Amino acid sequence: MPGPMREGHLFIISGPSGAGKGTLVRELTARVPGLWVSVSATTRTPRAGERDGVDYFFLTASEFEARVHHGEFLEHAEVHGNRYGTLRSAVERRLAQGVDVILEIDPQGARQVRDQMKRSRLIFVKTVTTEELAARIRKRGAETEEQIRTRMVTAEHELTLEGTYDYVVINDDVSRATDELVGMIRSVGEEQPARPDEEG
Ligand code: 5GP
Repeated sequence: MPGPMREGHLFIISGPSGAGKGTLVRELTARVPGLWVSVSATTRTPRAGERDGVDYFFLTASEFEARVHHGEFLEHAEVHGNRYGTLRSAVERRLAQGVDVILEIDPQGARQVRDQMKRSRLIFVKTVTTEELAARIRKRGAETEEQIRTRMVTAEHELTLEGTYDYVVINDDVSRATDELVGMIRSVGEEQPARPDEEG
């Protein structure tokens, strides 16, 4: 019997808020054709310029809860007072079609996906120093000082998780960090499929 078609690889890009994950994912998809970036659902209000179904699926709290209840999320988490989740069906369909999938999610979600999909690759994105992280969040100008303090407390905790990831990318320079990510994703694509006993 012929073996099943090769499944796509699942890459999880995570790390503290303000590390530049979003920018790196945009650069990465511009450089590597054929990657599919999952569109998450969230209860957060859209920011100026954000489009429903493109940046996020914007849901009310009760719509989100209904999807949790029906088991539609591969993972979901509360991040700074809003709920975020990855829709399971879209991700599983792409992987089954052999498409490589990118999730850009917080570390709580990253752990939930890793627990279910042992072959996923976890990539941790961080800045050189935590001071730089605070400076970037401040520069975005979207948060009050109080909110920035909350994010920094979360970030301190998230930085302790770095050792549980497969790769760490320091976003000191967008173009250099993108090169590193591109190299990493290409080398995973060239790997032989793991035997079951090599998983984990
Ligand atoms: P933002 O509101 O700035 O777009 O995202 C806030 C945080 O939520 C970021 O750290 C982002 O990675 C994370 N996030 C976005 N989508 C998801 C998701 O589907 N699941 C989880 N767990 N986190 C997400």
